[in-house]
Amino acid sequence: MAVYKSKGIVLRSIRFGEADRILDLYTQNAGLVSAIAKGIRRTRSRFGGRLEPLSCVDFLAYQGRTLDTVTQVEVLRSFHGVREDLDRFEAAGNMVAVVRAISGGDEADRRVFNLLYHALDTLEGRTSGFESIKAAFSLKLSVLAGYTPRLDACVICDRGLKEPLDGEPPYFAPPLGGALCPDCRAASGDAFPLPPGTLSALQSLVALPIREAAVEERLEESVSRVVSAHVLAHAPGGAPGRALAARGGAGWRRLHPA
Ligand SMILES: [Zn+2]
Repeated sequence: MAVYKSKGIVLRSIRFGEADRILDLYTQNAGLVSAIAKGIRRTRSRFGGRLEPLSCVDFLAYQGRTLDTVTQVEVLRSFHGVREDLDRFEAAGNMVAVVRAISGGDEADRRVFNLLYHALDTLEGRTSGFESIKAAFSLKLSVLAGYTPRLDACVICDRGLKEPLDGEPPYFAPPLGGALCPDCRAASGDAFPLPPGTLSALQSLVALPIREAAVEERLEESVSRVVSAHVLAHAPGGAPGRALAARGGAGWRRLHPA
């Protein structure tokens, strides 16, 4: 029975029976893991701290056929400040859904773990701008998963889209994974126009560290629309919500093969 040790962030924690919990964790060394933690709800449990969703833990487990079994766990950081605030918690819930939607397999990606950790840390430390953190997180995750949206030039004709463009605005085409110039907008029936500044705002979110994520209020809506459409177009089964149910999915449909 293979025993392993890893850091993980609890994505979901469900009561099971009298004193057990079933956990879904995004781990540093093994990607997405489902495990049972026994005896967790007994007082003086050897697990000590509570295993609430979003907690970052260090744990020891052995592999099982469907569920691993957690034998030791230490809470490194509870992200209490995120869990106890509705707006922050909602933003975190959205990020967790996106992680699950694109990380169906057991491909471990330390960078995904780190990104989620830093996103939660930023959420906890900030008092506003949660939309920006959410958008930056989803964009960065799509880049890590190999679905970098093309934002600097038209995906069809390669024309540069450095703003301001004269005349018409650029478009975003979710199924094509990037922006379209006004001339090519007919290439995708799903393309929608972008208010001036949207493309540069998106580029900054990709380029800057997540703690610096900041989108002007007037662009929040268009930025969020692009980001959710991009995730939706490439997550297996479509919406992250549905992918939640499809455990062990095949990962994202490859748009730009590595
Ligand atoms: Zn074009």
